[in-house]
Amino acid sequence: MNESICNLREQFNDALLAVSTLADLETLKVEYLGKKGLITALLKNMGKLSPEEKKTFGSEVNTLKGYATDAIAEKFEALQKAELQRELDAVELFDISLPPVLDRGSYHPVTLVQRRCEEVFRTMGFAVEDYSEIVTDYECFESLNIPPFHPARDMQDTYYLDNGQLLKTQTSAAQNAIYKKYRDALINEGKTIKAVFPGRCFRNEATDACHENTFFQMEGVMVGKDISIANLIYSMKTMLSEVFDNYGLKVRLRPGFFPFVEPGFELDISCQICGGEGCPSCKHSGWLELCPCGMIHPNVLREGGIDPDEYTGFAFGLGLTRLAMMKYGVKDIRDLNSGALTAMSQFTDDK
Ligand SMILES: [Zn+2]
Repeated sequence: MNESICNLREQFNDALLAVSTLADLETLKVEYLGKKGLITALLKNMGKLSPEEKKTFGSEVNTLKGYATDAIAEKFEALQKAELQRELDAVELFDISLPPVLDRGSYHPVTLVQRRCEEVFRTMGFAVEDYSEIVTDYECFESLNIPPFHPARDMQDTYYLDNGQLLKTQTSAAQNAIYKKYRDALINEGKTIKAVFPGRCFRNEATDACHENTFFQMEGVMVGKDISIANLIYSMKTMLSEVFDNYGLKVRLRPGFFPFVEPGFELDISCQICGGEGCPSCKHSGWLELCPCGMIHPNVLREGGIDPDEYTGFAFGLGLTRLAMMKYGVKDIRDLNSGALTAMSQFTDDK
């Protein structure tokens, strides 16, 4: 082999060995195989050679050229693999077996209780309805047997809007719409109206450990032929036992006045925080007022387009916020709206 070719081949081999990146390899390729590269430059010396030597020399240069081309291609592949591996090594790969690094989100205790109630009522054949937070005076009061200037309006300090509408003070504000939605099925097909409608309510009340200006209720109604107080008591007992996972839970009914029911009751449950001993949450009575309820007033059914002589029904307004306090032992209602995430985030499991 020609000496200069032999030297260049060795020089090339050393240079190739020193290359460690794709960029350096590209430079090397241009340096040796480019139009002005070292291997091409060898051919410029051929002029001095005899035709016989030219033939051999040309052939050897071509062999070197082929050798260098192959060696560079091989190195290219190896470097590319190595660089890919480096990139992969640099990425922190997701490991499905590891616990999550970020803090987990969680549902608000009121949401958990609301969903549990919805679940229980669904199994009892109730439809779950949604309703607006801004309602008319008719929806919130007049259709519920509370005409203007009725003293019952003083029971709730209402947020009125400039346009005459108001922030609903009770989920009962949806009752009239629910009756109108389902009355045709009731009258024409004999289908009992069974619906619950959870929602946020607002009253301009002074706040303390068990009163807030914003709270959640779940209203429920059942209207049909021969619906009685027995149906009311059964439904409430079943629901509360399920929600509290406590079939020995104590409840009591006291007579109560609510303009939209007759007769009306207050349903109390034994305080789940103090176990009936008395604490600030139950105003030291051992009982917590949970749920006004009663048989729907004939005037309310009439406003909903239902003949009270033919149909009867019961209604209840479950305090979801209070229920959440009871279920989870939250001592101060204001904690629930405080945005104290550390306190609220512990309710990750509805068990
Ligand atoms: Zn108590």
